[in-house]
Amino acid sequence: MSKVQTSPDGAADGYVHVRGAREHNLRDVSVDIPRDKVVVFTGVSGSGKSSLAFGTIYAEAQRRYLESVSPYARRLFQQMPVPEVDSVDGLPPAIALQQQRGGSSGRSSVGSITTLSNLLRMLYSRAGTYPAGLARLEAESFSPNTPMGACPKCHGLGRILDVTEASMVPDDSLSIRERAVASWPTAWQGQNLRDILITMGVDVDCPWRDLPRKTRDWILYTDETPTVPVYPGLTHEQVQAAITQKKEPGYNGTFTGARRYIMQTFSGSQSATMRRRAESFMTATECPECHGQKLNADALHVTFGGLNIAQLTALPLEEIATKLSDVARKTQAGAGNAKGIAAQRIVTDMSARIGVLLHLGLGYLQMDRGVQTLSPGEYQRLRLGTQIHSSLFGVVYVLDEPSSGLHPADTEALLEALSKLKAAGNSLFLVEHNLDIIRKAEWIVDVGPMAGEAGGHVLYSGPPDGLRDVAESSTRAYLFSPPALPHRTPRVPAGWLKLKGIRWNNLDDLSASFPLGVFTSVTGVSGSGKSSLVSQVLTTIVAQALGQPLADMEEDGDDDMLLSQAPATHPQARITAGLETIRRLVVIDQKPIGRTPRSNLATYTGLFDTIRKLYARTDLARERKYDASWFSFNMPRGRCPHCEGAGSVMVELLFLPSVYTPCPICHGSRYKPEVLDVMYHGRSIADVLAMNVEEATRFFADDPAPSATLVTLMKGGLGHLRLGQPATELSGGEAQRIKLATELQKQRRGHTLYVLDEPTTGLHPLDVDRLMEHLQELVESGNTVIAAEHDMRLVARGDWVIDMGPGAGTRGGHIVAEGTPADVASAAASRTAPFLKQYIG
Ligand code: ADP
Ligand code: ADP
Ligand code: ZN
Ligand code: ZN
Repeated sequence: MSKVQTSPDGAADGYVHVRGAREHNLRDVSVDIPRDKVVVFTGVSGSGKSSLAFGTIYAEAQRRYLESVSPYARRLFQQMPVPEVDSVDGLPPAIALQQQRGGSSGRSSVGSITTLSNLLRMLYSRAGTYPAGLARLEAESFSPNTPMGACPKCHGLGRILDVTEASMVPDDSLSIRERAVASWPTAWQGQNLRDILITMGVDVDCPWRDLPRKTRDWILYTDETPTVPVYPGLTHEQVQAAITQKKEPGYNGTFTGARRYIMQTFSGSQSATMRRRAESFMTATECPECHGQKLNADALHVTFGGLNIAQLTALPLEEIATKLSDVARKTQAGAGNAKGIAAQRIVTDMSARIGVLLHLGLGYLQMDRGVQTLSPGEYQRLRLGTQIHSSLFGVVYVLDEPSSGLHPADTEALLEALSKLKAAGNSLFLVEHNLDIIRKAEWIVDVGPMAGEAGGHVLYSGPPDGLRDVAESSTRAYLFSPPALPHRTPRVPAGWLKLKGIRWNNLDDLSASFPLGVFTSVTGVSGSGKSSLVSQVLTTIVAQALGQPLADMEEDGDDDMLLSQAPATHPQARITAGLETIRRLVVIDQKPIGRTPRSNLATYTGLFDTIRKLYARTDLARERKYDASWFSFNMPRGRCPHCEGAGSVMVELLFLPSVYTPCPICHGSRYKPEVLDVMYHGRSIADVLAMNVEEATRFFADDPAPSATLVTLMKGGLGHLRLGQPATELSGGEAQRIKLATELQKQRRGHTLYVLDEPTTGLHPLDVDRLMEHLQELVESGNTVIAAEHDMRLVARGDWVIDMGPGAGTRGGHIVAEGTPADVASAAASRTAPFLKQYIG
């Protein structure tokens, strides 16, 4: 436990004083950090930046805040562990804006998290144009999530989920016995329904399409549920005879129509898997009543600037801003009445809020865009933009890589937004790798020199220029004398993968050619369409063409993604050339490597299998006849029976999200005590799961199998992750690097297309250099690498660049320049060119 002494009023000198910080790898760190400067924490990944900024400073601020609230309220917070630190003085309350961990959750939209939706409803309520005879509506009446506002037909979903013959009977050449009605339950219940139809005289061996229309419609759509005697295994004629002879039936079966079964399962089943299965047989069609606008007719009749609220919400923020200022100008002229004043006030507030978001390069977002479709960087900037208007002051904001997802042209605006927060009287502590941001810092805290045990020291704390003299710093070299990139001649493509007629998001009939056998970066300002092109269109279309399910990259289905929210359309494009040389597609994205704490770094990479074998080979394990399965926390033999190997148990709280606490039986070790008796070099299997990659690399140095994987993980800059770290705790960038490392340790087969989305997220320039080596290795072994990327050092060293733009959203979606890095660096129309040029020798 920590011993924290603080002076209640904080130090009066304007600094946060940290004394004796020992969280994680920090080596008794003492450092003074100014509260009135933009402070950037730098260092290679795993050096201890986050342990200092989040693990110590933010955690301590949160601990003090929580001490002042009731134990009940305290439970609502995701509490951070009490930091290992002697004292922290001069510490204001802190707000952390971190990258989302473990994927996004919830159903919120851009409008709801920015509070713009609320303001807009108020605007329509108070200042909307109402048709004659319609009474003024409450603000809630403009929300599809309230009974007053929702369209009565679709209950505010905008879509109607229903079944069709084609959705339930995908192959109508099959007979009922051959499971033509695919949506029916499988196994016994399905046979039961078939046998009922036999009793009723339906020909279950006739191809579905040859059955009479009336019979088909009845089977699919009837709500009747007749109960009939069932004689399993008999034909209809035999059944008739059996009934005449009054033979005892096998049982009495009750029929359920196919549609009825789906609807009941979808709305009533306890099992999420069953609900998902039911959903997969449904189709979503636009609600005929509200035409997808989700609101009732009254609400949709109210307009502002000629648009109803649904139409306005579907516009990009930048267009809403224009609309608002138009209206503001007009009402100003005729102001004076109450409505005019209300409108004026709300419009001013909204315009100011949207203005900040535009400035942060988010003007292309629509208010109705689901938060789960945003990149972590967009999400963080959205929250940042919202904070600027929360009128808080005297707060320290601790941010995790705010530049993530930002084109260099947009970082200027980010810095300005940050300055505004600071000017409002707040402190800004950023963990950041982006050199443009580091250069603009007013104060640098450089942590290092390397990762893990080789790091944990504050090498420098002061104005940026002073870092020049700190020889040990790995940041210094990149900041002051950017290492001249070795001149390299771009590889010549082995062929071209050509796509035509691309339509998706802001891409409208785009054609794109990707060179094969080389490394290509896709660049462009954020919102220009890089992800749409690379991560959405290219991956979907190539996977389809190769007959490869894309979902195999994910551990399991996405619980949040119900059909009711899924996009109604799919990316469209045709491949016109180049597919024949691609054998396999591997997508290395930032999606979590698993969605439960049961998957982790060790299980995902296969490392755990090799380690379990080592344990099974120890003398004690042989003596007790424990094979490798005993050392798996996912198998019943060796795992703790109480928590079934989870290490934690879930505590259900009424009305609150459930929380996990360590298992009281195994104390979080996940295993039975007898399994923990088995030691390998003096450590139990649970001890190994608690090691980080770096420690494990040393521990298994003499074992070739685990070493191979561990060394690859180390090279990927993942030395700081624990082997047993649950998948749900990893950042998107970490998940991506784990996937990359897993691929790299596999046999190189060549002819694979690797697709990456911003692989440099979370990486110090030194780590980026290592990543680049990896990617080059992949290309050298005959593969193709395509990455959406902002880091110009990486882009400059590739073979080809496709630059998207010119702007974001509807102002983007085109290819503005393509060619070798040197070609694109001198392309006049490209906003990327000037930044790329700096790295072209
Ligand atoms: P950075 O932010 O510089 O990338 P971190 O502060 O995340 O580095 O990590 C610094 C060191 O602390 C690493 O060696 C890492 O293994 C260790 N560490 C980080 N998080 C934890 C944790 N939850 N438990 C134990 N060690 C951790
Ligand atoms: P980039 O990767 O260059 O930042 P994106 O491809 O993410 O750009 O976005 C391009 C455009 O497509 C933007 O206008 C964005 O708002 C829109 N867009 C991206 N993803 C979605 C989505 N899931 N739903 C709706 N619009 C989207
Ligand atoms: Zn509707
Ligand atoms: Zn347990």
